[in-house]
Parts: sequence; C-alpha cells; structure tokens
Amino acid sequence: MMAADAGTAILENKDSEPKIPDKQNTKFDVIVIGAGPSGYTAGIYCSRAGYNTLILSGILPGGQLVNTTEVENYPGFENGIMGPDLMIEMRKQTQRMGTMIIDDEVVNVDFRHKPFKVLTASEEYECRAVIIATGANPRKLGLEGEQTFGGKGVSYCATCDGPFFRNQELIVVGGGDSAIEEATFLTKFATTVHLIHRRDELRASKVMQERALNNEKIKFHWDSKVIDIKGEQKMNQAVIKNLKTGEEKTLDVGGLFVAIGHEPNTKLFVNQINLDEEGYIILKNKAQTNIEGVFAAGDVHDRNYRQAITAAGFGCMAAIDVDKYLTENA
Ligand code: NAP
Repeated sequence: MMAADAGTAILENKDSEPKIPDKQNTKFDVIVIGAGPSGYTAGIYCSRAGYNTLILSGILPGGQLVNTTEVENYPGFENGIMGPDLMIEMRKQTQRMGTMIIDDEVVNVDFRHKPFKVLTASEEYECRAVIIATGANPRKLGLEGEQTFGGKGVSYCATCDGPFFRNQELIVVGGGDSAIEEATFLTKFATTVHLIHRRDELRASKVMQERALNNEKIKFHWDSKVIDIKGEQKMNQAVIKNLKTGEEKTLDVGGLFVAIGHEPNTKLFVNQINLDEEGYIILKNKAQTNIEGVFAAGDVHDRNYRQAITAAGFGCMAAIDVDKYLTENA
C-alpha cells in the first residue's frame, strides 16, 4: 500500500472522533506532537492517568508504519498485521482512552515560558507538558523508482521486511553500520546480498566490516550508486553505475534496501531543544529534554533501535515521566 493511500485510509476511519475543539478547549495538560507508535502510546498513558491530552498528529498520521505492508514483529498479532491497520487500531484505542486527536500540522512552538505554546496554522494551543514524538524519516536515494516500488520491493527496514524476501538476490545501499548490519541480517534469507556503496571504503565500525567482508553471501560493489529501479507489479531489477569508470550494469534482484541514514523531524525545535549534530533530540534526564516539562519519545531521539515496539515503549516511558513531572508541579 502506498503512503498516500495508507494515510487516507487512516483519515477516513474517523467516524466517532471528537471534532476540532472550540476556542475554550485549547488548553490541555499534555500535548503530544506526532502520531506514530510513540505518540499514540504516550496519548494512551497520559489519558489513562487522567490528564487532558491532545495529540497533534500532522497531516498524515501514523508515522513510518503507514508506508509498511505486513508487520510480523509487533506482539499481539499471531498472523501479523498490515502497518496502516496497526496504526488505525492504535488511533482508535488512544481515542477510546479519551485523547483528543487533531490531524493538523504544528508550525511553531514556544517552550520559553509556561504554559507552553504549540501552534498550528489556524490555532494556538497551551499545555503544561509536551511530548515530542515527531519521529524520523529514512534518508532517500531520490530516485523515481523508490516511490513507485515503495512496499513493492523497496524497503527502508531489513528487520521489518527481510523475512519477505527468502531465496532472492537483494541489494543494500550504504556503507555505514546500518547498511552492514542490514546486509548481514539479510543473508539469513537472501541467496546473495549486493552491497552498493558510493566510496571504496566503509564507514561502518571495523568489527562489523570484518563480519560482512568475510560473509560469502555479501558481494561488494565499490564506488557505485543505484541509478534506476525497474519492475512491473514489483521491482525486479536495479541499474547500478560505477562512479569511477562510468560502467553501468543491471542486477536482477527481488528487493532493494536503502540504509543511508535517517533524518529526525526536529526542524521545529532548533534553538529551543538541545539537538545533537545530526538533529536528534538529546535527552537530559530519562525522557526529559533540556527543558523541564518537555519530553521526547521514539525515533526523534533514538537512532539505534527504531522499531515500532521500541517507539511505543519510549512513548510509555515519556508519559510516565510526564505524570511524575505534573504531579510534582501541580
Ligand atoms: P551513517 O553512519 O550516517 O552512514 C550512512 C551511509 O550511507 C554512509 O556510508 C554514507 O556514505 C551513505 N550515504 C549517505 N547518503 C547517501 C546517498 N545519498 N547515496 C548513497 N549513499 C549515501 O548512518 P547509519 O549507518 O544509519 O548509522 C547511523 C548511526 O547509528 C551511526 O552512528 C552508527 O554507528 C549507528 N548504528 C550503530 C549500529 C550498531 O552499532 N549495531 C547499527 C546501526 C547504526 P559515505 O560513507 O560515503 O558518507
């Protein structure tokens, strides 16, 4: 299912939702920014703890899982569940707990004074505590085929999608720890993993490099980039180009995994929240950021695990920390 279809499906499933609040209802105990697994879980826990909670979900709620097909590794679903369906269930559960969800985009925040202010294009909301759960997006190659074959062979998560590609040749793009880890993981399923890297040396740590270089199933294509992805219903070929010789060749592959890093969605918070050099939120004390009362959960601060279940766990932790903060600052 393509991203736009999935987001639309979630938006269409809003039958019994509370409507946008009127002017008097713009003050909340907690505002959660973002509606992926971490945001929804934070909403569930905050509402259950009795706090008047708003989730501002963005225009297309659901996070990265709306771009995924089947999710086999989220506990509770014996036969797996489609990513968009999982997000619809999380949304409905969050609403049943009493969380207000508004599908609007946050355009600005003001964390300098209390109550905190969170602004959309049309409204200004106030709250006593904020949970930032805006997630991260995988960096893209920028090829047209990436969009065309997203969920149809092109993936950004080997842990999520690898088991769907048994006994096929696969491509992994990238030269960092993620690419090497994913290539190594994918050798469990693939007949051959072609690792395409734009330079002639890897960025990954030595120990991981050695493991991959000694793995007979991984074939390295140095100084190379993918320039085209082809197929019909699903992708079945990728064209790669050697950047030094200009030579182009076509590989027959069932899947292509892009592992060239992630970009956290933190532009809104520059100059207010401490971010690391790559833009990830730096947590100061448990789930709290450098500002007391502002917390973060999920891929927006976690560059290591990046799973739906870990994001949900971080959402839970942030909500518990919010409860403690609001109790102490009643
Ligand atoms: P990363 O370290 O930033 O590596 C990204 C890789 O993708 C680099 O090799 C880079 O090439 C390549 N790349 C970037 N943009 C590209 C483009 N447009 N086209 C083609 N190639 C491109 O990202 P990461 O591997 O996701 O790792 C992120 C952080 O998580 C790192 O600190 C890493 O150590 C950590 N991590 C650790 C583990 C582990 O310890 N088990 C596992 C995963 C990640 P260049 O090398 O030429 O720049």
